[in-house]
This record gives sequence, C-alpha cells and structure tokens, in this order.
Amino acid sequence: MQFDTVIHGGTLVTSSDVARGDIGIRDGRIVAVAENLSGGDARIDAGGRLVMPGGIEAHAHIAQESSSGVMGADDYLSGSVAAAFGGNSSFIPFAAQHRGQSVDDVIATYDARAARSVIDYSYHLIITDPSEAVLHDQLPRAFARGITSFKVFMTYDMMNIGDGGMLDILSVARDHGAITMIHAENNDMVKWMNGRLARAGLVAPKYHAISRPELAEEEAINRAISLAKLVDAPLFIVHVSTAGGAAIVQREILAGTRLFAETCPQYLAFTRDDLDRPGMEGAKFVCSPPLRDAATQAALWQHVKSGTFTSVSSDHAPYRYDETGKFIKGRDIPYPQISNGMPGIAARLPYLFSEGVVKGRISLQQFVSLSSTNAARTFGMTDKGSLAPGMDADIAIWDPEATRVMSLQDQHDNMDYTPFEGLELTGLPETVMTRGALVTHKGSLIAKEGQGKFVPRAPMRLLGDGYLAKERDPAQNFGAQI
Ligand SMILES: [Zn+2]
Repeated sequence: MQFDTVIHGGTLVTSSDVARGDIGIRDGRIVAVAENLSGGDARIDAGGRLVMPGGIEAHAHIAQESSSGVMGADDYLSGSVAAAFGGNSSFIPFAAQHRGQSVDDVIATYDARAARSVIDYSYHLIITDPSEAVLHDQLPRAFARGITSFKVFMTYDMMNIGDGGMLDILSVARDHGAITMIHAENNDMVKWMNGRLARAGLVAPKYHAISRPELAEEEAINRAISLAKLVDAPLFIVHVSTAGGAAIVQREILAGTRLFAETCPQYLAFTRDDLDRPGMEGAKFVCSPPLRDAATQAALWQHVKSGTFTSVSSDHAPYRYDETGKFIKGRDIPYPQISNGMPGIAARLPYLFSEGVVKGRISLQQFVSLSSTNAARTFGMTDKGSLAPGMDADIAIWDPEATRVMSLQDQHDNMDYTPFEGLELTGLPETVMTRGALVTHKGSLIAKEGQGKFVPRAPMRLLGDGYLAKERDPAQNFGAQI
C-alpha cells in the first residue's frame, strides 16, 4: 500500500481505545491503521507519544464583533494558529447576525474572514433577528450549505430573542436537522441585580459575579429545555457554569431528553476571587456567565468525569487588556461596561490534559471524547474526530511527559494576557495535522495561510421517539395537527 505519510511507533488513543499502532495516510485521509506499517513518502516517529484525533474547538469567537461593535483581537489567521498550537485540527467559531442583517450577508462576511484559516472550519450561526425571511428562507439556505447549528441568546438586550423567538428558531432547526445552542441566563434577573448594585455604588469588577446569579443560569436552562421539548428539538447548552445547571442537564439526559452541554476551562480553573485582583486586573476574568466558587469547580469536574458534558470548550473571546478590548469604554469603568470574555483557545486542551488526564480525573479516552469526538458527532463533522480508516487525517500527536509553565507567548494568539499564566502543565501537543498536512510540528508553524477549508456539516440524526408534548399529540389534543 502507498502512503503519503506514516505515523509510526506511537500509542493510538480514540474515544474508546488505547493501543499501539501506526497510521498510514494518503490523499488527506487515514487509509490504514495497523502494526508496523512500512513505506510512506514521509515518516513521523511517534515513539513515546500519544496519537489522537485532532482537537475540535466547538466554541470560539474569531473575527467577530460583539453586539456593541467591539472586534475581538483574533482573526482567522491568528485564531487558527493559536488553536493549532493548542492541539486543534479544526474549529467551529461563530458567524454572528446583527439585527437587520441577512444571514446570507453574514455568511459571505465570515467566508471572506475565514479564508485565512490554517485549520478546517465551519460556523455556528448566531441569530439575533428571527424574522420570517430569516426563519423560512435564509436559515434553510444556510442549512443546505452545511451550517447545521444555530446559537441564540437568552440574555443581553441587543441579542436575546425572547421565548417566542426561541420557539421559532428551535422549530425551524428541528425541521432541518439542525441543533440549537443556547446562552442560558435570565436577562431580567441580571438587569435587576445590575440596578441594585449600581444604586449601591458597587461597580468594581468583582461585582460582575454577583450581578449574574447562579439562579439566573439555572432558571434559563430549565426554561430552554422546556421550550426545546415543546418542539422536540435537540438543544445544546453552552458554557454551563453552575452546579445546579449541570445537575439539571444530567437529570434531563438521563430522562432521555435530546440535550447536550459543555463547560469551559475557566469555570474549572478560576473563581470569583480572581475578579477581585488588585486594581482593574479583575477585568481579565470578566466573562458571562461569570466565574463562581470552589464548590462549583468541584461539582463541574464531577460532571466532566461522569459524562454530563458533551465537550469542554474554550469560549475563546479575545478582548485585550487595553483600550481596544476590555477598556474600549474607558479605563476606570463600572463592571457592566468591561468587554465580556476570556481567551483560551490554545490553553483549552493542555489544561484539560494536565488537570484532567495527568491528575487522574478523566481517562485518555474521555479526553478524546471531550476534546474532539463528541463535537464531531454532535455538530455533524462526519469525517473528523476519529482515527478510523476513511476519516480525515486530522491528528494531534502529544508528548504526555513534556512539561511547561503556561505563558502568553505559547498561546500564539493576538492577546496581551492569558488568564492561565503560570499554570504548570504536563503533557503538550507536539504535532497537529489537518487532512494529512502538517499545521504545527515541534513548536513551528508549518501551515500556509488559507490551508484550512470550510467543512459542510451533516444534519443531526434524531434517534428514538423524542418528546411529544400532550398538547401537540393528536391522540390527546382532539386531533389537532400543530
Ligand atoms: Zn461564547
């Protein structure tokens, strides 16, 4: 058999197995997995290394303006390079609709931005304006192009679409085999808390955590699940930050609800005390939902272990610690005006490996599930997320014993800080390839700008009976078809 590349001598890890073996690659695909493969125009020695499906970053804000018009620091070149140095071979950032914009224009805008990517990519569409034209004309067209996930917000005045808007989106998504992602926080609870804090003059960064109560997330998760059940639509809860929210997700999954969820390293690594660092340093830790407390960290790790979460994603939202990012509205500003978000696209997998696998919280197979395979299955990247013959040769080779102290310069992004600075890591990605082509290798960027390709994604296959609300069941609602 002819191979372009053979990766030999390593330990192969998938979401189910750990075994010694070699991988033969031809025309960008894995064509053989076996012991002692000979040949190959190029041979990569993976002795002492772990050979895994490349990471799939399913939650990142790249070249995206916030609803108030603040552009993040990373474009598709820097964002994809940072992702690759962090062990990712593909990613799915957001393409955000602002109110009044057509989805076709949004996609055209992001297609132009994403052409610079060094790794494969798709987009989740953020919908803020579910008009008739969007719902019944533009979204189906996006879906036909292989953009099979939508994200909506239950919070932020400029973004949230109300319960009726969510039902409309969920219903269209369900009809087309798409999945709806939800930022779940109760907007009015947050606004009410903001008002109380402002009247009391409590506006330092640390009050950001107080302004967005755990109850606001728990209530919104419950409500989102109820809305999704009414239309029997699959639902993905992004960045779960509370023990209560994770417990609701766990309960519903066990009950058979078509529900998926993620948490993020920042909720495992930091607490609200980080928002109380000296001066305005706390601004670096302002993200929504906010950081919580040590008990929450322990509970979220337990849910990572026990399978509540589909994935652990970065929610990379790169606002620099300067006037272009965090302080675009001024240096000495009340917390509600600090740009929301934390960077972490390069830190996600080294963090999860070191704190998860090396510290014995999760297995290697769980690491692969949480970092790659589950995202591929949930979001329809049918050729990625595994090492089986026929799959794209999207591969990350890790040195499980390499150590490093996390620093800004290893992130390779356009940021001026990393919240993970100083964290001691064991286990690092050494080589990343996308469709058989090297992207990073032993600390160097090999890929050329634009090497990544758009990946059309498959619709979600809904298995089983799903949920039929009594009032939508013709056998129980006097025969009405609604
Ligand atoms: Zn996000």
